[in-house]
Amino acid sequence: MISGRCAACKNQRRRCPSDCIFSPYFPANDPQRFASVHKIYGGSNVGKMLQQIPPYLREQTANSLYFEAQCRIQDPVYGCVGIISKLYEQIHNTEIELAQIQTQITCHKLQLLHPNNAETNFNLLPTAEAQSNFQIPPESNNPPQFQWPNQVPWFN
Ligand SMILES: [Zn+2]
Repeated sequence: MISGRCAACKNQRRRCPSDCIFSPYFPANDPQRFASVHKIYGGSNVGKMLQQIPPYLREQTANSLYFEAQCRIQDPVYGCVGIISKLYEQIHNTEIELAQIQTQITCHKLQLLHPNNAETNFNLLPTAEAQSNFQIPPESNNPPQFQWPNQVPWFN
């Protein structure tokens, strides 16, 4: 250790022993990293957690604790759960968009197969009721009698 003490020992104003549990994961040149985990978990708790796990998992654990602490500081109510919720929402919205696009593809395929039915009025799949697990109907030589809408809602 060039500067003598790691960020944790500097923060705690103590001598940094050669076998310091913090020094590999909280270098002196990044004091904010330890300050974040100290603020959320408490420095001694972080030290206890690192000691309880095998050495090969400690770097990943320290990174995870830092990330989760940063999230908790930025969003005190939800922490990283807020990010997970936003990602779930994005996945859900993307699945709905995918289902709508698959429906459009199916509509265009059926329209190519039956161009004379294009002016009938079948409400295939309203946007509000689109399900993320929507399945494209299997291709068949005898498709059901579709009636085509004059206006498809998601084209607006
Ligand atoms: Zn130290």
